[in-house]
Amino acid sequence: MFSRLLFLFAILLASSFSFAQGVALTFDDLPLNGELPPGVTRLQIAAGAIDVLRRHHVPQVFGFVNAKKLEGNPDGAEALKAWVAGGERVGSHTYSHIDLHQTAPDVFQREIAQDEPVLELLSPKDDWHWFRYPFLREGDTLEKRRAVRAYLTEHGYKVAQVTLDYEDYLWNTAYAHCAAKNDARSIEWLTTSYMSVASEYIDGNREMAKMVFGHDINHVLLLHLGAFSSTILPQVLDLLQQKGLHLITLEEAERDPAYQPDPDSVSSRFGGSILEQWMDVKKLTYPKLTPKPYKQLADICKP
Ligand SMILES: [Zn+2]
Repeated sequence: MFSRLLFLFAILLASSFSFAQGVALTFDDLPLNGELPPGVTRLQIAAGAIDVLRRHHVPQVFGFVNAKKLEGNPDGAEALKAWVAGGERVGSHTYSHIDLHQTAPDVFQREIAQDEPVLELLSPKDDWHWFRYPFLREGDTLEKRRAVRAYLTEHGYKVAQVTLDYEDYLWNTAYAHCAAKNDARSIEWLTTSYMSVASEYIDGNREMAKMVFGHDINHVLLLHLGAFSSTILPQVLDLLQQKGLHLITLEEAERDPAYQPDPDSVSSRFGGSILEQWMDVKKLTYPKLTPKPYKQLADICKP
């Protein structure tokens, strides 16, 4: 009897592990998203984030680079050097963060090629052929979408999809403004509003994964490297752990079969995560979530 109970317990334990979902952190707009607080460098922003990632033993994360931001900007170059020296990876986010919905495919493809020398220089030993679409816009016509996808495949790129997104970038510039004013009360509000939006939207996005695929999947979280990153990251990592998401690499996340099929549709002119694309293709009803505090974030601590 006892051994049978033990056996049942072992099965339960094994199944709970196999159903535990992973999440890969990714950072866009390197070397910097948004504004800098006065007296702070891009190098300090990157070093602060790397420090948190290392202290929490986060597996290698990708940072998606816009090489144009390095023009005449040695601080940005130092930040990127520190990023790879700290053990993190780089991928492409186009040369100038170009919007595919405003651009012809050949111009967009030139921007992908233009980003490559910096990625090769930064990361000659690792595969940097991972591509994150700026604004998550994959084409406003099917022809465009297919042309760029074909180019990416021909040139050995994999698309770094996103499944968890709560527009974290909204807090970067707001934080830079509040830090400039040393406004502790407003920074407190930034922290609480960030955490409640993050929690609700992560749950909502996971609900969407279940609607689309019939079960939860391994996730990819979209973050932006900026002024607020190192302050808020420890709490984001706690939140993910509380939600039963364990940290994995982008490669591990995208080994989930959910990332294989291509929605191959022009679902939204605004762009969207792979889950949003599938929600639209399958005409599913989105979970109702509290609107984000766009106006408060734009107005808070305004210079
Ligand atoms: Zn971006």
